[in-house]
Amino acid sequence: MTHILNADLHCHSVVSDGTLTPEELAPRAKANGVALWSLTDHDEIGGQARAIAAARQAGLPYLTGVEVSVTFVNATVHIIGLGFDHTDPALVEGLRQTRGGREQRARAMSDDLARVGIPGVYEGALKYVGNPELISRSHFARYLVEIGVCKETNEVFRKYITEGKPGFVAHRWATLRNAVRWITGAGGLAVIAHPGRYHLTANEEYALFTEFKAHGGQGVEVVTGAHGQADYVKYAGFCSEFDLLASRGSDFHSPTESHTDLGKLPNLPGSVTPVWEPLAARFH
Ligand code: AMP
Ligand code: MN
Ligand code: MN
Ligand code: MN
Repeated sequence: MTHILNADLHCHSVVSDGTLTPEELAPRAKANGVALWSLTDHDEIGGQARAIAAARQAGLPYLTGVEVSVTFVNATVHIIGLGFDHTDPALVEGLRQTRGGREQRARAMSDDLARVGIPGVYEGALKYVGNPELISRSHFARYLVEIGVCKETNEVFRKYITEGKPGFVAHRWATLRNAVRWITGAGGLAVIAHPGRYHLTANEEYALFTEFKAHGGQGVEVVTGAHGQADYVKYAGFCSEFDLLASRGSDFHSPTESHTDLGKLPNLPGSVTPVWEPLAARFH
């Protein structure tokens, strides 16, 4: 399967904080020329059976996927899992625990926004939630746009619900060790998502990659919606420095909010080994 270039191994559906269903995403990916697809909802694999069926319907090769929220040195880091058994009990249970606490966090976020004069945001955000176990900051952002507090969701993430801004509530997610072990224990491959988005010092970033490898992590996203040319070069370099496979994914959430659509990304640099090569036996 070395001939695949347009793999898109990172996106979200209504099962987490995307706005399209798995059944809408699969034909959209196919129409955009995607040759291998994965749905990677946050902390949730409840959409995998639907994505597998929708991909088959669209004639699109598919890898199971998930994006696990992790707390590492007090920062939130995302770890993508690919090509695992989506019925694996330890993975299912680990993700269930990782989702726990989102509702309480959402109520605390809403209380904090009420203190700055924006009441009822929890109830408002719920209208956008497709999965009651997965209320996310994206749903808050959509409601704050709806009521005119901000013009677009990106503006919400500049002015509210991020560290130091009204509505932010710190949260402890899964450990790096557990996230990697749940994924690899289910036969999958773990990938550091969009490393260019974390505001880590060089030492912290080195520690992240070193610990990730020590726990059995094998890949890093090199080409993704949040990365620019400098990130492609930097993380392609990390692939050789840390002996990692390279992944590629848009992180598409919504036709109106996401600036990178499914499959609309540059190809991986020629120097790296694509993460999907050793996963060929796990394609659906
Ligand atoms: P949560 O898991 O509830 O903390 O929500 C995280 C989600 O919020 C991410 O997966 C993104 O979809 C969204 N998000 C975070 N930061 C931004 C940003 N600066 N602009 C747009 N969306 C963002
Ligand atoms: Mn998201
Ligand atoms: Mn992410
Ligand atoms: Mn994502």
